[in-house]
Amino acid sequence: MKGKETGYNYGECEICNTPMEEKYIKQDFWIRGKLIVVEDVPAGVCPQCGEKVVKADVGRWITRLLENTEQIAKAPRISVPAIKYDREETKV
Ligand SMILES: [Zn+2]
Repeated sequence: MKGKETGYNYGECEICNTPMEEKYIKQDFWIRGKLIVVEDVPAGVCPQCGEKVVKADVGRWITRLLENTEQIAKAPRISVPAIKYDREETKV
């Protein structure tokens, strides 16, 4: 066993048929106008086009997590840059 890989076979990418590689990714979700970032999500990532797939049980876990407002409330906060689209700046 190497690292914490699950050894799950994600098969081939639906888009370009490249074998998927298992990676631990950051996944972001917008829930009721709030950005929630879930870290270390095991996923199959296509090295060719970047397509991502998660296993059904991982998807279910994420769904449960996103419904758990208490757990979300307790989660540490990160700050992200928030930039407003500037209509003036793009005027030509
Ligand atoms: Zn692909």
